[in-house]
Amino acid sequence: MKKITLQPRSCECCGGNDLDQVLQSQSSVKRTSDTWIFPFSVAVCRNCGFCFNSPGPKQEDLIRYYSDGISGSKDIGLPYSIDTRIAVLERYSSIT
Ligand SMILES: [Zn+2]
Repeated sequence: MKKITLQPRSCECCGGNDLDQVLQSQSSVKRTSDTWIFPFSVAVCRNCGFCFNSPGPKQEDLIRYYSDGISGSKDIGLPYSIDTRIAVLERYSSIT
């Protein structure tokens, strides 16, 4: 299991660093070869009121994360083979 690391991030609107943390959580996301812990935090700038993600993920971690597949889902490995997708579509299709 891999984990995205975070770094401090200033307000994108005013450049301020006086922030209120309003939410912190994390998700477990299954990618092509690994499961990633993806923490996220939402902050509100006390200077201008802008709400944004801070601290934010490190760029090098995002590059590694997206190199492990361009999409993923919480704890679910997505079937990205054509054969698997066709089998799922046939199973749930109402057209016979
Ligand atoms: Zn601000």
